[in-house]
Amino acid sequence: MSYLFPTYAKWEVKAESGHGATLIDDNGKEYLDFISGIAVCNLGHNHPKVNKAVQEQLNKLWHTSNLFQIKGQEEVAELLVTHSCADYVFFSNSGAEANEAAIKLARKATNKHKIITLKNSFHGRTFATMTATGQEKIHSGFGPLVSSFVYAPINDIHALESLIDNEVAAIMIEVVQGEGGVQLLSASYIEQLKQLLNKHDILLIVDEIQTGIGRTGRPFAYMHYDLSPDIVTVAKGLGNGFPVGAMLGKASLRDYFTAGVHGSTFGGNPLAMSAAKAVLTEVFQESFLEEVRQNSEEFLENLRSTFKECSLVKEVRGLGFLIGIECQIPVDKILKTCRDKGLLVLQAGPNVIRILPPLIVTTEQLNQAIDILSEVIQEVSQEEKSSIEA
Ligand SMILES: *Cc1c(COP(=O)(O)O)cnc(C)c1O
Repeated sequence: MSYLFPTYAKWEVKAESGHGATLIDDNGKEYLDFISGIAVCNLGHNHPKVNKAVQEQLNKLWHTSNLFQIKGQEEVAELLVTHSCADYVFFSNSGAEANEAAIKLARKATNKHKIITLKNSFHGRTFATMTATGQEKIHSGFGPLVSSFVYAPINDIHALESLIDNEVAAIMIEVVQGEGGVQLLSASYIEQLKQLLNKHDILLIVDEIQTGIGRTGRPFAYMHYDLSPDIVTVAKGLGNGFPVGAMLGKASLRDYFTAGVHGSTFGGNPLAMSAAKAVLTEVFQESFLEEVRQNSEEFLENLRSTFKECSLVKEVRGLGFLIGIECQIPVDKILKTCRDKGLLVLQAGPNVIRILPPLIVTTEQLNQAIDILSEVIQEVSQEEKSSIEA
C-alpha cells in the first residue's frame, strides 16, 4: 500500500545510505551507483565538504527572504559567472523553474513570443517547460498547451531555418539530449545554428540542467564548442542533491528582470547556497575537470572496444560522463539484471542504457561497471539468440 500518486515506475531498491559511488539498500546490499540521482550527485553520496558546508549553515540560518542580502547567493553567482559566458544569475529551486525563468526572460527581452526547441528534448514538467519539451507523450492529455512553441528535428539545420520568422524570441537546446536518448548535436550543426542566430538576432538558451556542473568534463557542455549562449540553465548537479537551480544570463538581459518582474520564495535559500558553493568550489577546479575528461574518455573507449563485436549493441556514444549505449532491443531487462548484479544504470528512451557515474568515480569502479555490463549484455544476447532459434 502506498499513499503516493503513481507518477513514477518505482524499482524494487530501497536505498538507505551511500558514500561516493556506492549506494547501500535496506538489506545492506551495495550497488555501484552509475545514475547519481540522474546526474545530481556529481560528487557522489555523502561528500564530506558538501556535508560540512550544509551542516554549518543548518546551525546558523535557514531562510530569510529574497528581500534580504544573502551572501551565499553572491558567492555562488560569482562562481557561476566566472566560469561561464554569463554575467548575472537568478536562483530557482529546480530545473523546470530555471527554464521557466529563461522562457519568461527571452520573451520579455525580445518582445517576441515564439520559442523553437528540438524534438525529443526535455525541459521540464511545468506548463511552459512541458510545452518546450519536444515529446508528444509528455504533452498528452494536458492541452491546450502554452502557445508559440515549435519543434525542429535535431541536427537538421534546414528544418530549423524553415521555422524562423520575425516572431522568434529564442532557440532552446540541450547540447546533449539526456532524456531524449543521449543524442549529441553535431559540431557542424552547432556552427550553422550559431550563424542563423546571428543573422536573425535570436537568443540562444542552452539547457545545461543535465549536462552542466562538470558532467561532461567542462563546467558547461556548451564549452566543448565555440558557443556563447545568451542564457544557460542549470539545476541537477548544482546542489549535489540539495534542491537548487539557476538561470544565467548575459549583461544585455539584466534590465528586463528588474524588481517585481520575476521571483521565487525559496530560490537561492541560504541552505541551498551553502551546498552549491561547496559543489562549485570543488567541481570548477581545472585539475578536477581534467581528471573527469581523462577518466570519461578512457571509459568511453573501453566501453566501445568491449561492445565492438556485440550484435546487440548498436552504438556507444556520449560526452564526458553522460554516456549512452544504444541497443537493438528494449533495455528494461538489462537494467534489472544489472541491478541484481549490483550496478545501477538508467534508461533514456526504450533502447538506450544511460550511464551517469558520479564525477569522483574511481578507475576500479569504472572497470567493475564494464565487467557487469558486459556480463549482462552477453547473457541477454544469448537469451535473444536462443529465443530466435527456438
Ligand atoms: C531534469 C531536466 C529538467 C527538469 O529539471 P527538474 O529539476 O526536474 O524540474 C530540464 N531539462 C533537462 C535537460 C533535464 O535533464
